[in-house]
Amino acid sequence: MAELMKAATLTFPREVRKRPLRIGEVARPEPKPGQVLLRVRVCGVCRTDLHIVEGDLPPLRPGIIPGHQIVGEVVAGTTGAGATEELAVGARVGVSWMGGTDGTCRYCHLGLENLCDAPTFTGYTVDGGYAEYAVVRSDFTFPLPNELDDLHSAPLLCAGIIGFRSLRVAGVKQGDRVGLFGFGASAHLAIAVLRSWNCEVYVSTRGASHRQLAASLGAVWVGSETDKPPAELDCAVTFAPSGDVVVAALASLRKGGVVAINAIHLDRIPQFDYDRLLWGERQLRSVTNMTRTDARDFLKIASEIGLQPKVTPFPLDQANEALIAVKEDSIDGAAVIVM
Ligand SMILES: [Zn+2]
Ligand SMILES: [Zn+2]
Repeated sequence: MAELMKAATLTFPREVRKRPLRIGEVARPEPKPGQVLLRVRVCGVCRTDLHIVEGDLPPLRPGIIPGHQIVGEVVAGTTGAGATEELAVGARVGVSWMGGTDGTCRYCHLGLENLCDAPTFTGYTVDGGYAEYAVVRSDFTFPLPNELDDLHSAPLLCAGIIGFRSLRVAGVKQGDRVGLFGFGASAHLAIAVLRSWNCEVYVSTRGASHRQLAASLGAVWVGSETDKPPAELDCAVTFAPSGDVVVAALASLRKGGVVAINAIHLDRIPQFDYDRLLWGERQLRSVTNMTRTDARDFLKIASEIGLQPKVTPFPLDQANEALIAVKEDSIDGAAVIVM
């Protein structure tokens, strides 16, 4: 008889207010060679989880356990090839959305593992961290800085890393004028990195509480999603799953500037005026997944600048409610499920 664990599994994708996650007992997974079994301490909640649970991303496996910002403790694993000192039993590690790559496709060979043709996604193609235990690939785990406790590490693992990658894709340089369009879990971490690079940050977002948070974190200007920043931006990152926001960001850009779209799903992109908005060598780029280098570089910066994400904890029993909170933007910062 397999041992049991408590987990949140997706029954079938539907609107999150109908509570598509079932909280109950399932068989505890066993690690195979190259994998470790983690006792999950906390798991961050990401907007991508919402897209999976509501079916915006097509279901790939029935009964999937979502969650890809896992902070866990190694309880068992392989000691063969691939095992490192960091992965001793008892080690505290983080796991993110990229749960593995094939290592053989042209993108992996080009050093673009975020674009791998056959990737494994934690909490989407394989079970994730909305559970008491999770099995993960040992070479896709990251040691976590001691400065950060479990609760505050979790939102760094996707929101933080992908927000950081977005800054790279947008080509942000020291002292740039940077626009952040939308101000949720990812943006409130990106602003701390930008401030440490002496950037001027302009935040355009829905909701008075998000605007207050942005101002308190050092934005030089905050406005609603229909306000235009008062200065031309060197680059911008959009975080909202809305094409209107992408066009608004483009309209705020100087010539040669870049908009990086940090969204795995957009409603659509409306028609826009090429001559006025894109001509002038402005660029529109998407941000896709992350590399392990992004993760390590970001976690290092996070520990150096003492990044303290704003978090709201939820018990595992309330996994549906945590997703509702993300959908309704009813909390500042990040939702985190605590086992
Ligand atoms: Zn590959
Ligand atoms: Zn995510």
